[in-house]
Amino acid sequence: MYDVVIVGAGPVGCKTAELIAKRGFDVLVLEEHSEIGLPIKCSGLVSRRIFKLSRVSSDIIVNRVRKARFHIKENYIELKSKKTVYVIDRQKFDKEIAEKAEYTGAEIKDSTKFGNYKKDKVLEVKTTKGSFKTKILIGADGANSTVARVADIKLPDNLLTGIQFTVESHFDPETVELWFGSSICPDFFGWVIPENENSARVGLASSEKVGEHLDNFIKMRFKHEIKPKNKIVGLIRYGLIETSASDNVMLVGDAASQIKPFSGGGLIYGMIGAKIAADACIKTLKERRYDSQFLKKNYDDVWKKKLAWPIRKGLFLKNLIHSFSDRQLSFLFSAANITKIRRLLEFTDMDLL
Ligand SMILES: Cc1cc2nc3c(=O)[nH]c(=O)nc-3n(C[C@H](O)[C@H](O)[C@H](O)COP(=O)(O)OP(=O)(O)OC[C@H]3O[C@@H](n4cnc5c(N)ncnc54)[C@H](O)[C@@H]3O)c2cc1C
Repeated sequence: MYDVVIVGAGPVGCKTAELIAKRGFDVLVLEEHSEIGLPIKCSGLVSRRIFKLSRVSSDIIVNRVRKARFHIKENYIELKSKKTVYVIDRQKFDKEIAEKAEYTGAEIKDSTKFGNYKKDKVLEVKTTKGSFKTKILIGADGANSTVARVADIKLPDNLLTGIQFTVESHFDPETVELWFGSSICPDFFGWVIPENENSARVGLASSEKVGEHLDNFIKMRFKHEIKPKNKIVGLIRYGLIETSASDNVMLVGDAASQIKPFSGGGLIYGMIGAKIAADACIKTLKERRYDSQFLKKNYDDVWKKKLAWPIRKGLFLKNLIHSFSDRQLSFLFSAANITKIRRLLEFTDMDLL
């Protein structure tokens, strides 16, 4: 009998496990894959806050970037970030958090896929490796959460597929490129994230024809023949979830769409969600209140106090940018190049995107 079973040994599931196990509760984490951190489904671009929130070491840093270039066709605006932004090794990041969770006493079972659960006095969680009893079930199982489906929790409908390759060419190692416009893709952007002078993570996300959009983007951006490698594919579900809790069940991280709608970044919001989920879980266990009302008040309402407004703002910004025609965007980018406006934009914290 466990106090908490967490589905998903991604960074958010393992951070939540670490914080709960630290307080002496019995925590089991179930992971369907055989190795933590694989397959990678992330570009690994994060702000400095990630180190404070996750407590991982600087060993995960692959590159440091200071400039972002926002392109629309031949126009672009280049902004210098006041704070360094990091390109990280996502597998190392996941592994470090998982090791911390195990060190504090959480148990991680790999190659174990969650299927469903049955509720009696406690929950009986069914997996490919047998059943486990628990008081609380946490779904940290990503954008297509099975826990949400089984618990009958409705997820936001907005869904993008992201595809990324590693490309070898010549890059400015300090500059991230974001390519907007209908010729790139209708509802997101293409990105070039340098790992160093000779290698970059190049990708694109869209709700439709993402492979086709990415092929065109790569042809347009590189012009010469390149050999993309290390293909990754992942889902980005965004928007404010109606509720992330039901009786004995909570969702956290991508499973709860704790994602920045404008950029698809989920690591910062996920770490914030993990801390709040762990606090709520500990309170629930201490007070022995597992009903949805209690979980809603102590978890759903609490994280939304922090993240609902940024999510709504990101959603607004995303919809606004993609409602403009290429000509309107070109005009906006030219206007933004005026020094005073650029300074104002440079003052904007990258974390808001
Ligand atoms: C293409 C792409 C690029 C991205 N780039 C960035 C970026 O640059 N910066 C950033 O901050 N964010 C980025 N993100 C988002 C980021 O990857 C996620 O927000 C982050 O991985 C969320 O962590 P998580 O632990 O909630 O979920 P996940 O990392 O998805 O982990 C979920 C885990 O649950 C496991 N699982 C799922 N179902 C089951 C089951 N039934 N049983 C057992 N285990 C299960 C999975 O195997 C996985 O290990 C990107 C996403 C995509 C798709």
